[in-house]
Amino acid sequence: MGEKSNIQWTDVTWNIARGCTKVDEDCKYCYMYRDSFDNTRYNPLEVVRTKTVFNLPLKIKEPSKIFTCSLTDFFHEAIDEYRNEAWDIIRKCPQHTFQILTKRPERIAKCLPPNWNEGFENVWIGTSIGSNKGLKRMYDLMNAFHELHNGGIELRKPTTFISFEPLHEFIDCNFDLSTIMWFDWIIVGGESGNETGKYRYRPCEIKWIEEIVGAFESCGVAVFVKQLGTYLSKQLKMSDRHGGNIDEFPEHLRIRKFPNP
Ligand code: SF4
Repeated sequence: MGEKSNIQWTDVTWNIARGCTKVDEDCKYCYMYRDSFDNTRYNPLEVVRTKTVFNLPLKIKEPSKIFTCSLTDFFHEAIDEYRNEAWDIIRKCPQHTFQILTKRPERIAKCLPPNWNEGFENVWIGTSIGSNKGLKRMYDLMNAFHELHNGGIELRKPTTFISFEPLHEFIDCNFDLSTIMWFDWIIVGGESGNETGKYRYRPCEIKWIEEIVGAFESCGVAVFVKQLGTYLSKQLKMSDRHGGNIDEFPEHLRIRKFPNP
């Protein structure tokens, strides 16, 4: 629950809880559910606070990118009681970059610490979107930092990102320029999964990835193509079953950039 990560865009995962409830179809084959299914010790629906790993960032000396909550959602209601303890750890670790990826961006504004505007520059906040229905989350994330809160205070905009993974539908990226450029970073990836059984993968097409990469990269947003997913891995006969080996990507999609906070 707190360990060196194989996820290409981070160094370490940190989980203040484990367990989550699904939001929509984008969560259909959530890997936390899959892992819980393989490991019957956990009930994926129950959001349980972690014990020793809760303080993990305090123990890491080397500046690291920390994917905050890979096995739950940092902004889940069940975490409201102790989220401020996590904010306190984040504040005490300016050497690290905390990458918070949520499917509940509509809850962000009310879950930020009261002193958000006085620090926390080491926090990146993103939302994940795999389909057109999920696009509402992009606007919810923007609204969290556009609306006025607490009697007229505008919340400081952090480094923001969207993870278009698992991309399982064509998304027309004909967004306003101001919408595209509000984001600092985009991750794109097809879905990983099994051929049969309860945890499968959905198709992802190269042209769907190209649409997102083209729209954001042409506006100067940092783009990170994480993986092509199991479907394309099979189609293109790639050696990595997740389609995550960049050397096997079509040349024009070999892009892995990070934002410049
Ligand atoms: S929000 Fe994330 S962790 Fe929660 S069910 Fe959906 S994919 Fe899984």
